[in-house]
Amino acid sequence: MRLLLIIGALMMTSPAAAHDWKLVIHGGAGVIERNVLSPEKDKAIRAALDHALQSGSKILAAGGSSLDAVEAAVRELENDPNFNAGRGAVFTYEGTNEMDAAIMDGRDRNAGAVAGVTSTKNPISLARTVMEDSPHVMLSGEGANIFSREKGLEQAGPEYFATPERKRQLDELKANKLSWFDVDMKYGTVGAVALDVSGHVAAATSTGGVTGKRWGRVGDSPIIGAGTYADDRACVISATGSGEYFIRVGVAHEICARMRMKGESAKAASDAVIKEMADLGGSGGVIIVSPGGEADWSFNTPGMYRGKASAAGRNVAIYGDE
Ligand code: ASP
Repeated sequence: MRLLLIIGALMMTSPAAAHDWKLVIHGGAGVIERNVLSPEKDKAIRAALDHALQSGSKILAAGGSSLDAVEAAVRELENDPNFNAGRGAVFTYEGTNEMDAAIMDGRDRNAGAVAGVTSTKNPISLARTVMEDSPHVMLSGEGANIFSREKGLEQAGPEYFATPERKRQLDELKANKLSWFDVDMKYGTVGAVALDVSGHVAAATSTGGVTGKRWGRVGDSPIIGAGTYADDRACVISATGSGEYFIRVGVAHEICARMRMKGESAKAASDAVIKEMADLGGSGGVIIVSPGGEADWSFNTPGMYRGKASAAGRNVAIYGDE
């Protein structure tokens, strides 16, 4: 009897149905080839990706939630000027930085998003506050800035977000009368997707959008179902690339729908939907994790800044052949 009680108590304290945690991150996709990236930049990007993986992994390894892990990983990438999110966001045509972000919880498909925000140091945390502390899913522009201040999120002035490299890209675009997609052909949006030990998934995506954007343009990143999606029944996605095409295809939701209704693997579903998006003329990629533990990516660009972590270890990659 006593033995049975001890076994019963042990069963109650050990985590029910423990899952192997997984974390996948990206820092953008595009024409990222060995001859266009300096060795210093290559090193800096790898170190930043690894640092973000470590932040999220620490939370997941300790039994924390996928939601906390993806927010932590994305905050690190937002703080790093090498990526087009938070500090280092690209410039609009008018020379400002307008950021978009979204977060989603696979448990109940609760979601929060912001578009065109200009003064919150970490837009991903503002998206989370919209999800948890407002009756809405998406806030935009000045209203979202006001909400951020009211909720006491850390604010930053325009000089914090603006970096000389992003200004150079805007000047180049204007001087050469290029379209957004021609400037360096790189999308530096950041994102994270994770599965925690309780079997729940979450996604986070944050971006400055595309260089030279105008007229309050909003990309796919903050649009639930386009650049960000999380559903415990299927998968969790964060995307980067030519946002207009990702919106038209509903990339993130479409991948999860194929897995849920057609029973496709994470890789098969994401490859199929990236191809569909590419056939329309778009480019970019996604990172994906499934509740069953698949952790993968798919992209049609020469490279994608990306990394994976699990209890088995961490690895980061940049070029298509890695
Ligand atoms: N997908 C983003 C957008 O269109 C850009 C990026 O991935 O860097 O706003």
